[in-house]
Amino acid sequence: MTGLTILGATGSVGVSTLDVVARHPERFKVVALTANRNVELLTQQCLRFQPQIAVMADLPSAVSLRERLCSESCTTEVLHGPQGLVDAAELAEADAVMAAIVGAAGLMPSLAAARAGKRVLLANKEALVMSGRLFMNAVHEAGALLLPIDSEHNAVFQCLPAGQQDIARAAGDRATRTSEPSLASAGVRRIVLTGSGGPTRDMTFDSLRDVTPDQACAHPNWDMGRKISVDSATMMNKGLEVIEACWLFNALAEKVEVVMHRQSVIHSMVEYEDGSVLAQLGNPDMRTPIAHALAWPDRVDSGVAALDLIKVGRLDFEAIDLQRYPCLRLGFEVARSGSAASAVLNAANEVAVQSFLDGRIRFTDIAGLIEEVLGQAELHEPASLDDVLVLDAQGRRLAQASIAALSVSSF
Ligand code: NAD
Ligand code: MG
Repeated sequence: MTGLTILGATGSVGVSTLDVVARHPERFKVVALTANRNVELLTQQCLRFQPQIAVMADLPSAVSLRERLCSESCTTEVLHGPQGLVDAAELAEADAVMAAIVGAAGLMPSLAAARAGKRVLLANKEALVMSGRLFMNAVHEAGALLLPIDSEHNAVFQCLPAGQQDIARAAGDRATRTSEPSLASAGVRRIVLTGSGGPTRDMTFDSLRDVTPDQACAHPNWDMGRKISVDSATMMNKGLEVIEACWLFNALAEKVEVVMHRQSVIHSMVEYEDGSVLAQLGNPDMRTPIAHALAWPDRVDSGVAALDLIKVGRLDFEAIDLQRYPCLRLGFEVARSGSAASAVLNAANEVAVQSFLDGRIRFTDIAGLIEEVLGQAELHEPASLDDVLVLDAQGRRLAQASIAALSVSSF
């Protein structure tokens, strides 16, 4: 029986995780669930899965959850705040931790899970983008097992040779990222990430400036939270994924390519020295990578329908126009330039996306804003978690200042 903590249980990935877990009560026991402010959904989840602890982001939400659980005679202990999230991640009864909080808010508990030597199921890509080397070192030093949930990285993981988990572990060994012994010794020539192009892919270039938050969140193939949906529309999601792949698989950015693939059926590929290309295919449903990582190295039913190749009919591939997707260009540039730029890029992007969702800036302002912040930031390679947090704060401050300037100039 695997004890499982789900950080971000009320989100898109969290809900899909509980769906898979519910199919295998003999295999998985939910021990902790966390949410930001969705008391209603977390109440239902606690009543159904009876975790030991539940965590809300703030005290009022925690009080409200506690009252509702008490009235149903549910014995789940309710905690709140950042320490509550860390407690859920470190819980002795948790063998595995699904890290599915969105954004920088997930860094501390995701890192705590790694430091506690858990089996870490990583959906929270922002945590790795922010703190790459530090996170991988923590995984390595604590003997944690890091399994990617992001569908592309889960696909790459599945296409790597047996013993692939050592590739993820070995990445933490390295003081600098100047070569890539793990991938090269496995005969890997390159990693090919696929991206659908998102909901704006068929719009004219000129109409992109008028894209609304709802349009940006209407992804053609995946049903996801709003932040990652906007990232998919700008393709910053793919930029973050390039950085994520470099850390997870100990790869140089030059060894990672991105190709546009509209159907989102091939989730990613690994090309070997002999010319073989291995791909992982499946319907675009996060329950597949979630079930894979939950049960690895076994396989369990995920509830996902079998892939109907005849219905899919064709698989298309196109080169990506970096003029149209400047955020992907920035992702590649930052992947080549180091950890400090990654933390700043992530922070500026989080602020820009939230401002776009709040109607304060245009869709097409996002990339320019991030580029401006990267140009202004003082980049010192982070040696500690504190250094990462300073870079994050700097990126946020500069982004807010740029947004304020944008708002002034547009009146
Ligand atoms: P979501 O917005 O649907 O859910 C986010 C979860 O995090 C919710 O449970 C929310 O309550 C919690 N949360 C948000 N802010 C918080 C805070 N400040 N403190 C504590 N908890 C907080 O997001 P999602 O789509 O499920 O994505 C989660 C993560 O997984 C993201 O990092 C995303 O990039 C990654 N991911 C998601 C998908 C997908 O299909 N949704 C695919 C690949 C990777
Ligand atoms: Mg992905």
